[in-house]
Amino acid sequence: MERPTLVIVGGGTAGWMSAALLSHITKGRLADIVLVESEDIGTIGVGEATIPAIKRFNRLLEVNERDFVRQTRATFKLGIEFVGWGRRDSRYIHPFGAIGEPLGRTGFEHYLARRRLSGITESFEDYSLNCMAAKHNRFRTPPRDQSLLSTLSYAYHFDAGLYAAYLRRRAEASGVRRVEGKIKHVAQHPDSGFVTTLTLESGQEITGDFFIDCSGLSGLLIEKTLNSGYEDWSHWLPCDRAAFVPSERTEPLTPYTRSTADQAGWRWRIPLQHRTGNGHVFASGFISNETAAENLLKGLDGKALADPKFLRFTTGRRKLAWNRNVVAIGLSAGFLEPLESTSIHLIQSGLVKFLDLWPGRDIDPLLAEQYNRAMANQYETIRDFIILHYKATTRDDTPFWTYCRNMAVPDSLTWKMDHFRASSRIVLTPGELFQPTSWLAVLLGQDIVPKAYDPLAGIADDDQVAAHFDRLRDAVSRAVETMPTMSAMLDGMA
Ligand SMILES: Cc1cc2nc3c(=O)[nH]c(=O)nc-3n(C[C@H](O)[C@H](O)[C@H](O)COP(=O)(O)OP(=O)(O)OC[C@H]3O[C@@H](n4cnc5c(N)ncnc54)[C@H](O)[C@@H]3O)c2cc1C
Repeated sequence: MERPTLVIVGGGTAGWMSAALLSHITKGRLADIVLVESEDIGTIGVGEATIPAIKRFNRLLEVNERDFVRQTRATFKLGIEFVGWGRRDSRYIHPFGAIGEPLGRTGFEHYLARRRLSGITESFEDYSLNCMAAKHNRFRTPPRDQSLLSTLSYAYHFDAGLYAAYLRRRAEASGVRRVEGKIKHVAQHPDSGFVTTLTLESGQEITGDFFIDCSGLSGLLIEKTLNSGYEDWSHWLPCDRAAFVPSERTEPLTPYTRSTADQAGWRWRIPLQHRTGNGHVFASGFISNETAAENLLKGLDGKALADPKFLRFTTGRRKLAWNRNVVAIGLSAGFLEPLESTSIHLIQSGLVKFLDLWPGRDIDPLLAEQYNRAMANQYETIRDFIILHYKATTRDDTPFWTYCRNMAVPDSLTWKMDHFRASSRIVLTPGELFQPTSWLAVLLGQDIVPKAYDPLAGIADDDQVAAHFDRLRDAVSRAVETMPTMSAMLDGMA
């Protein structure tokens, strides 16, 4: 029997990640894969910071790390530094990897609260290898042993254009056929509404059995054709624009993304081997494009290499990410601002779920339903984590921050914040991406102070708790001293 044709619409990060992964996993046996993209339309191409799960994607693709780092001019990322979020003068790192260690069966966060309530002032960062390595600009790949260093958790910053090109080479080598051209018309089956054929401006027709819509914010198939609907979250996340500009590389090379709160939004700084990526995510209801661009340029620490470019977006998610024979992956499925570098991860997670639910010739609607439930959960739990950064602020120095501080937030987030305030407990929703360490870093980093802690953390005596903390702090600082700087590490990989 003839193999079905799977058509990927779009050749941005989402399109080429889809093409590379699906062709590699299915080895040309389950479908012929065609990717259509238009150079005239171009790509967004600003997604450059990732989270550690990207390493699972690379492992699925059997990527060699050294080769990947060289070809995408990548640097390593140990977390995100947040500047000016809780208060104008505050600064903390959200690390990948652990903060402290439980004592007995009780989590470290409870002992932190116990010590704080007894009058000890300290930073959770001292007990995190990722935080302390980041502060000293150190990095090494973790050894595979039982040492503290083996717990270092990392991701990458990379050049989005080089990343797409890298994936394209791999996808084409695995048999993906690329077609260049602008899609002008999308035909549907008259009864089922399934998408059947794409017609390009050139008149060329591309017929498919299944379509992955990676057309970006326009949602060419999922929205413009299938009207799947969009849930708008801009009342909780009012930023709706971004300005971005590359600048010259500066020293030292930092193994973390920086996010600096600004007058009506925040600015990112992403260090790469050959340049620094910078951007400003802002709320157009509170600041003009001109002022946002000025603030962006003022905040650069190296010479700008171009004029700022602008983008508009509406935060939210597609109500049906899988509709009929179309799955939306990437920006066509929804938009969450890049505060926690989650969009590339959402591409990855959408693809893995799609592989888990790979449809047969007759596409069972149950598959779509399962996919949509799982992706809704992913988007909503990440959304809550991002909203936390805005809500947990004491800033009232601009109308934007006053709005964020006072805004109503989803009940699901209030529930988590209330639990932490009441008892230091971090309650997770099943299946959510961000784990207790991430919540802990942002909650404490933005001054949400618990009133109490787990009574089980009161069992050990003060000396025992102090010895546990001293041992951890010393172990972290000794481990950091053994690490090379990230620049030295990258030089060694060149
Ligand atoms: C300001 C900003 C910063 C970001 N930073 C990060 C980050 O640090 N980390 C992170 O994980 N994510 C980040 N993201 C998100 C990330 O950039 C995207 O998830 C990623 O680039 C995927 O985009 P895409 O491939 O879905 O869409 P696009 O890049 O827009 O690609 C769309 C593709 O569809 C094609 N296409 C569209 N219409 C047609 C048509 N009619 N005919 C033919 N082809 C068509 C286009 O040519 C293009 O190839 C950021 C996003 C923004 C806006």
